Amino acid sequence: MSLISLTAEKAGWRKIQCLICTDSLTVTVSWRSLLFLEKEKRICEECSAQLLPISGTVCKKCCRPQETESLCDDCSIWEETEEFRDMLQRNVSLFSYTPFMKEVLSTYKFRGDAELAKIFQPLMVKAYQQHFSSLKPLLLPIPLSPQRLYERGYNQSELLIAPLLRNSTSSPLIRISSEKQSKKTKKERMQVLPFKLSGQIPQRPILLIDDIYTTGATLHHTAKLLRDNGASEVYSLTLIRS
Ligand SMILES: [Zn+2]
Ligand SMILES: [Zn+2]
Repeated sequence: MSLISLTAEKAGWRKIQCLICTDSLTVTVSWRSLLFLEKEKRICEECSAQLLPISGTVCKKCCRPQETESLCDDCSIWEETEEFRDMLQRNVSLFSYTPFMKEVLSTYKFRGDAELAKIFQPLMVKAYQQHFSSLKPLLLPIPLSPQRLYERGYNQSELLIAPLLRNSTSSPLIRISSEKQSKKTKKERMQVLPFKLSGQIPQRPILLIDDIYTTGATLHHTAKLLRDNGASEVYSLTLIRS
C-alpha cells in the first residue's frame, strides 16, 4: 500500500461543524480535495438552501431584486437629491435579506462569531473579481466606532474582504455617528453624516465594503464625502441587499 492511499484511508471521513447551525457535517475527503487542496465545505445543505443569492433582474444601481432594471424607489430618491446624484456609482450585493439571513447576520455581528466570515469571504472575493477588479479600486471597509470595535473585537465588513486586504493601513474614515442605524427613521438615516476624514483621499476609484445595504444612507454619505475630497468614482460591495 502506497503512502498516498494510506493517507486517504486515514483522512477518508472527518466530522466538522456547519458554521451556521453547528450541526455536524460529514465531509468526504476525496482524492481531488487531497490532491488539489480544495476548500472544504463549511455549511450544511439545509443552511445552504436557505441562503438566497441575488439573481435575475435587479435595480441597475443598487442590486435590489425587482421586475425591471430601472432605478428602484430608494435609488430614485438618492438620484433626485442633487447633492447625492451620481455620488455612488453602483452597489453589488450577494444575498437577499431573508429571516434566515437576518439570523445569520445577527450571529455574525452581535454574538461575536467571526468564524462566519469564512462562509462569505470566497464569495465576496469572487464578486470583487467579477465586478470591480478591473477598476483597481482602493478597498475601504466601512469602519466601526472605536468603542464598537473594542466591544466586538473585529470589524465585520473588513473581515468579509480580509483575503484582499494585504496591508492593514488605517482607514481615512473616522466614524462620528453611532452605528445604531436600525433605531433611526428612514428620513433620519438619510440625513446623518456618519464619518469625517483623516488624511488624504487618493484620486482613484474607491470600493466601499459593508455587510448590508439597507437604505443606502451610510454608503451615499460616505461616497459623497470621498468624492468631494478627491475620489474619482465610488462603488460598493455589500453582502446583503435588504
Ligand atoms: Zn447548517
Ligand atoms: Zn436601486
